[in-house]
Amino acid sequence: MTSDDFGGSSRLPQERRVVTEIPGPRSQELQKRRVAAVPPGVGSVLPVYVTDADGGVVVDVDGNSLIDFGSGIAVTGVGNANPRVAARVKAQADRFTHTCFMVAPYESYVEVCENLNRITPGDHEKRSFLVNSGAEAVENAVKIARYATGRQAVVVFDHGYHGRTLLTMTLTAKNMPYKHGFGPYAPEVYRAPLAYPYRWPTGPDDCGPEAAAQAIDQITKQIGATNVAAVLIEPIQGEGGFIVPAPGFLPAIAEFCRANGILFIADEVQTGFARTGDLFACEHEGIVPDLVATAKGIAGGLPLAAVTGRADIMDKVHGGGLGGTYGGNPLACEAALAVLEEIEDRKLTRRARRIGEIMLPRLRALAERHPAIGDVRGRGAMIAVELVRPGGKDPDPEMTAQVARRCHERGLLVLTTGTYGNVLRFLPPLVISEALLNEGLDILDEVFAG
Ligand SMILES: *Cc1c(COP(=O)(O)O)cnc(C)c1O
Repeated sequence: MTSDDFGGSSRLPQERRVVTEIPGPRSQELQKRRVAAVPPGVGSVLPVYVTDADGGVVVDVDGNSLIDFGSGIAVTGVGNANPRVAARVKAQADRFTHTCFMVAPYESYVEVCENLNRITPGDHEKRSFLVNSGAEAVENAVKIARYATGRQAVVVFDHGYHGRTLLTMTLTAKNMPYKHGFGPYAPEVYRAPLAYPYRWPTGPDDCGPEAAAQAIDQITKQIGATNVAAVLIEPIQGEGGFIVPAPGFLPAIAEFCRANGILFIADEVQTGFARTGDLFACEHEGIVPDLVATAKGIAGGLPLAAVTGRADIMDKVHGGGLGGTYGGNPLACEAALAVLEEIEDRKLTRRARRIGEIMLPRLRALAERHPAIGDVRGRGAMIAVELVRPGGKDPDPEMTAQVARRCHERGLLVLTTGTYGNVLRFLPPLVISEALLNEGLDILDEVFAG
């Protein structure tokens, strides 16, 4: 155990406890009501109905305590109902719950923005403003980039995911389920190749420079660099399958952007706030984006998102051009301030790295024993395995779904993802105890052993 005894001061017992089938009878009853009330278009990875969650566990209505390898999709990095977050939100709820920052402002919003300006990559002058969701942040970043450059085209990448609104689903690569039947899509969105080491035709070694050259060639020949407002990229892809772009790819793209007056927008919605072992994943290769979109891990589960960018770009937009009724809600701002304190006080970037140091060797050892695991990848506490059919690299989504189901039955909450649906992804809360982390990995060993 490290000096900060993660899991030691938890409210709920940090233990896996499976006392019914999963989902249990009470969850199944609730699922019946849900099916009658909620459309099937809204899915759930695992329909256990939650009553409580803390540290590395999620407790359901049947009294099962599941090990959490999902963090509500990389949101509750500081832990669910983190005491510092909860205390600040409660105190704020007793004072005022909303004024609308565009009607009458409050200090916490400004303080969140000051913090974002300080901690995002680059020591240039910055501005931030707050919205409600990752999609809204990405969409606003694109609006600002178009306004500031007077150009229209936006370049995104294979396997990219940026949200579900009309513009952001257009920016997203994968048809099913995100785009199918929801068109027509937004105009002036172009897709370029991504440096995906495991699936690069000539192998991983030259993947970074080759993919960058191809992307740049497409941009200059097919779109024209002077027509491009922004290149938008996740520094590690989330829904696309936790693809870590090959080394050199991001710096080459960023350099090309700088040389051509194209704004580089980092979508750090999933990778941000210590998840990958740095505060932001761009830091790993020293990338300084012009604009950054953040959300998920920003406020411990309260809905908040932000756009942070170079002051000269952000200040261009006319008064009233940016905003929204709920953006930077005071409860969410208090939560974000608590999250930043937690990250700094408990050194959660270091903690995320430690989680990666535990997970990666164990998963690599598992891959040695099971050829179905074609690739083990990720950084910090954002780790995945890609499953393939024996003897090649054909994706195996069926096996992936089966492994996830068997983990769920044993009380380990894991998520699947990827363009081919063949990636198991692991996003444990950064405050999970090492005992639970290892127990989760034991379950994976067991499931793969059959
Ligand atoms: C989740 C996600 C989004 C969308 O965020 P929402 O809050 O669901 O709108 C955008 N980009 C990335 C990289 C994400 O992981």
